Amino acid sequence: MLILGEILRPSGDGGPGAGNFFTEKNMAYERKTIDPAQIQAQRDICAGIARRFEEQGRRPLALVDTYGCQQNEADSEELRGYLALMGCGFTQDEFQADIIVVNTCAVREHAEMRVLGNVGALNHSKKNKPEQIIAVCGCMVQQQHMAEKLKKSYPVVDLVFGPHELWRFPELLKQVMDRHKRVFAAEDSQGVMAEGLPRQRDGKVKAWLSIMYGCNNFCSYCVVPYVRGRERSRRAEDVVAEARELVAAGYKDITLLGQNVNSYGRDLGSELDFSDLIRRINDIPGDFLIRFMTSHPKDATEKLFKTMAECEKCAHQLHLPVQSGSDRILKLMNRNYDSAKYISQVELARSYMPDLVLTTDIIVGFPGETEEDFEDTIKLVEKVRYDAMFTFIYSKRVGTPAAKMPDPYTREEKQRHFDRLTETANRISGEKHKEYEGKTVKVLVDGETGREEYNLSSRTNGGRLVHLKGDRSLIGRFVRVKIVSSNTWALYGEIV
Ligand code: SAH
Ligand code: SF4
Repeated sequence: MLILGEILRPSGDGGPGAGNFFTEKNMAYERKTIDPAQIQAQRDICAGIARRFEEQGRRPLALVDTYGCQQNEADSEELRGYLALMGCGFTQDEFQADIIVVNTCAVREHAEMRVLGNVGALNHSKKNKPEQIIAVCGCMVQQQHMAEKLKKSYPVVDLVFGPHELWRFPELLKQVMDRHKRVFAAEDSQGVMAEGLPRQRDGKVKAWLSIMYGCNNFCSYCVVPYVRGRERSRRAEDVVAEARELVAAGYKDITLLGQNVNSYGRDLGSELDFSDLIRRINDIPGDFLIRFMTSHPKDATEKLFKTMAECEKCAHQLHLPVQSGSDRILKLMNRNYDSAKYISQVELARSYMPDLVLTTDIIVGFPGETEEDFEDTIKLVEKVRYDAMFTFIYSKRVGTPAAKMPDPYTREEKQRHFDRLTETANRISGEKHKEYEGKTVKVLVDGETGREEYNLSSRTNGGRLVHLKGDRSLIGRFVRVKIVSSNTWALYGEIV
């Protein structure tokens, strides 16, 4: 499948990975699956490392620090899975840790700056504990210029590896331990499929379930397709088997993850699409909820909305990033839809699910975005009325087409737009939350807040946050609550 917009023709200047801009050649992905024997070999390496620590008579401690999206959270669970096989306990204290893994994000500069600041500060913990091993992995280091930067300017870092190398983290760590040398593994790649990695999950109620990796959309501002490789779907059998395990283990809230879940299965050459996958998971016996993210509007279908409405376990929640309300900007972004198509999709989705909770992402200050373009975004937001919005100021990413577009507006102008959009978003969220007051809704209790008055947190079917007062034994249970008050960010309820 090729999606070649005019602005996306290979340009030849340096991109984030060695491959620069994508070409027809690197869009043609040949599925590469890691042999299960190789994963077993990684597990064996873990066992060897565990024995080594045991002989030294100590239980090592590891710290995994995660930046960015849910996919990174899911990847960190695999890193922890491997570390647990190495006999590690876990800590949040960098001065106690024997192994530190920083799992990074590249979507915006702000996240990269935070990572670099925090990695630089690890000088102190390493000085205290010279045998400490510091690894930096994830999307940021898959960009060649960032891997170089760590190599040159951050001698405190012992190991650097990109998302495509995660499956062989034990082998890379062992190389550092054996050779007492720095190891760098972030070759340009279209990505591999690896099943059967160990995983240490974060919670007991909510679980991430990756259904696909990578992205083929090449939105002109976005670095993800360069660092995460081509779109590749897990086999439906593997996804459903994992969902079954989660339900059997008592998980009640399963979020299916992919950069564009609506194109699930296209690369598998099977008839089964994302809606069919939802149905298969919905058929698993048990009391649980299915959520998913992210949906690209260009690929959302009536079949999907119908499936969501018909599957009783599928939450009526849709994260449908619009990015901009201006057709001119959407074109420059290479999003492949216009505002009219987007709005008609929202209307269609709401016709199937009148109670749909709808959220979105919006970028403010895309290169050349004018006052008029911005007003179009405000108009769209006022029309659609999102339950919640994630708003970002455009961040220039090395090697993406947008990075070369003229960008005449100042940071102050962009900030002014950003503030106005945030105010609009907050007002609408507050108004939508107010509508819940006095109503009784079913929620899943998912954790503690640490506060006395409203000590428990929970989510509605549509994913809205509800604070409650109740016994902690309710965690993991569905209960009915009456909403008594609300604000922009949350609802407050009483158990009925
Ligand atoms: N695959 C998802 C999004 C992944 S990135 C999708 O297409 O919806 C999450 C969000 O970060 C995007 O939706 C976008 O709003 C924002 N984003 C991505 N690149 C950005 C950039 N260069 N500057 C600012 N925001 C960006
Ligand atoms: Fe980035 Fe999402 Fe567009 Fe893919 S679909 S390029 S991840 S914004």
